[in-house]
Amino acid sequence: MKAEKFAVGDSVMLMCSSCDDEQPHTVQAATKLGKISKAVCDTCEGVSTFNRGVKTSVSVGKGKAASPYDRTRKYRKGQAMTHSVFGHGEVTAVLDVQKIDVLFGDKTRRLIHGQE
Ligand SMILES: [Zn+2]
Repeated sequence: MKAEKFAVGDSVMLMCSSCDDEQPHTVQAATKLGKISKAVCDTCEGVSTFNRGVKTSVSVGKGKAASPYDRTRKYRKGQAMTHSVFGHGEVTAVLDVQKIDVLFGDKTRRLIHGQE
C-alpha cells in the first residue's frame, strides 16, 4: 500500500477479487492513520476489509463468478477463484512458482499452482 491517507467516502482504485480487475472502491471505514479498513467495490458491491493495509477478508459482491481453482494455472496476486471446498477466494500472495496464498473468507490457505 502507498503511504496515502484515506478517509471515509474517498474513492480509490483497488484490486477487486469479484470483478477480477482494478475497480474504483468507496472507502467505508478507515483508521485514524488514514489506512483503509473497509472498502466496497463500486461495480459489484464486493466488500474488502484490511488490517494495517493488509487485506484480511473478502466477501463476494454481485460481480461475475470467479473461475474455478485450477492447479495447472499460474495465478497472480489479486486474482479470484472459486474452490470446490473453500468457496470464493482471492490470491493474496504468490510465494514462488508453485505456491500461492489464497484468502477464503477470513482464512488464508496455501495452494499449489503452475503444475504441469
Ligand atoms: Zn468488484
